[in-house]
Amino acid sequence: MSILSAAHFHNEEAAYEFVEARVWPNGRICPHCGTVDHSGKLNGKSTRIGVYKCYDCRKPFTVKVGTIFEASHVKLHIWLQAIFLLSSSKKGISSNQLHRTLSVTLKTAWFMSHRIREAMRSGDSAPMGGAGGIVEADETFIGHDRTKKPRGQKKGRGYAHKHKVLTLVERGGKARSVVVDDLRAKTLVPILQENIHRETRVMTDEAGQYYYLHEQFPEHGFVRHGAGEYVSQLDPSVHTNTIEGYFSIFKRGMKGVYQHCSKEHLHRYLAEYDFRYSNRVALGVDDEDRAERALRGIVGKRLTYRTTNRQVSAHG
Ligand SMILES: [Zn+2]
Repeated sequence: MSILSAAHFHNEEAAYEFVEARVWPNGRICPHCGTVDHSGKLNGKSTRIGVYKCYDCRKPFTVKVGTIFEASHVKLHIWLQAIFLLSSSKKGISSNQLHRTLSVTLKTAWFMSHRIREAMRSGDSAPMGGAGGIVEADETFIGHDRTKKPRGQKKGRGYAHKHKVLTLVERGGKARSVVVDDLRAKTLVPILQENIHRETRVMTDEAGQYYYLHEQFPEHGFVRHGAGEYVSQLDPSVHTNTIEGYFSIFKRGMKGVYQHCSKEHLHRYLAEYDFRYSNRVALGVDDEDRAERALRGIVGKRLTYRTTNRQVSAHG
């Protein structure tokens, strides 16, 4: 049977039940007073789907309160379709595509996809790696940072005008990316220290900012890309090929699917790529599992945007 034929993608009541089972796995929680399992379903012709009344504080609520779905008029089963599409498309899916596929306005599609990215954002800040673990660290450049004025150089030359991204990928594990202002050691090294266990074998290229990295990470290994070395001849486990693979998907997606991205929103796109990478098939997560994991991230991620139509249309 097609995944898309599941009832929660088509039937609004089924969609509520699907979300409720995941947001309230241990009993229905009143978002107003916190009472668990002391509420009843409001039935009746005029009642909206999924409304409960708390017997303690007497207030009504639905499962949407406190989630990315709150204050959205889009039907919940349409939300579930959008989450599935964004979770299962390896390089992402544009707002234009969502707009056409889901029959929502372009503006709504844009808001929805950014809220879903927020749901995908991992709250995990625990250090990566550890004894025996390997984390690759590298930077990439993407798009055009319009907040930076070109300093005399010709357009399209150099990297000063591009957005800078630092990514950490644990071999056989997750990815974590951050937008950075520059690539100096004093910017990058503290981020590595915060996000990686000291005992981890950290792999980088030979860039100058990592020259003294063995002071923070005694097991630091590096390859000399400048000399055409992609795998260390002395130790074949020393390379950054995993992270190159991550960047290749990210760049193809950003270029082919999203096309434009301002610095303000770049971290959300990174959260999306990190999420899919960290929940990939090679780690035993299929498309349905991945959509479920995105759905679990909806709680406490309510977002409000103040933006203009002009901005909306500028972002794929
Ligand atoms: Zn209550």
